[in-house]
Amino acid sequence: MTHTQHPNPNLPAAPLPEHERMGLLMSLALDHMLDPGEQEQFEQHLAQCPPCARQWQLWQAVDSRFQDPPLMEPPADFAVRLEARLARQERRRNLWLALGLGFLTIGVWAASILGIGVLLSVLAYQFVPWVPHLFLFVTDLWAALVAFGSTTWQLAIGLFKAPSTLLAVAGYLLLCLLILGLWTRFLHRSTGGLARA
Ligand SMILES: [Zn+2]
Repeated sequence: MTHTQHPNPNLPAAPLPEHERMGLLMSLALDHMLDPGEQEQFEQHLAQCPPCARQWQLWQAVDSRFQDPPLMEPPADFAVRLEARLARQERRRNLWLALGLGFLTIGVWAASILGIGVLLSVLAYQFVPWVPHLFLFVTDLWAALVAFGSTTWQLAIGLFKAPSTLLAVAGYLLLCLLILGLWTRFLHRSTGGLARA
């Protein structure tokens, strides 16, 4: 305000063509394209012309806003890394799914075999009352196994002579096969995606 040339800083002090020339110099200065002589003139004018100095500050602020990279811009390889991470996650998920299904399959088979064993034991108890006592022969396991093996054939003959037994075993086996068949079909459908992945 104390500058004698600028009683009002909003009004051009120098002749208008001079300010227009400064506008041109400003755009060149932003691109660092002023030669030393022009640079000196430019700085001298800014030093004595507050309106041009304010405009120059504004131009520089706008220019740096455009040149600085935005704060939130993701790194160049962000998409690649995200994709790799998603693929890794998907593979891990599929692995757990396959493991879970594998254990379930083993469990279903084990339950089926155990069921057949229990059923046969119950039937054996009814038809050959002394068979359960074999399992008490812990001191002579071999003899028990031999005895068990030798009686298995008789047991089988005895069991399958009774139509009701045959029906019970056949029915149970059929049920097991049906459950396993359905389970295998479900497994095929649900792991179809695994083979493609
Ligand atoms: Zn000026």
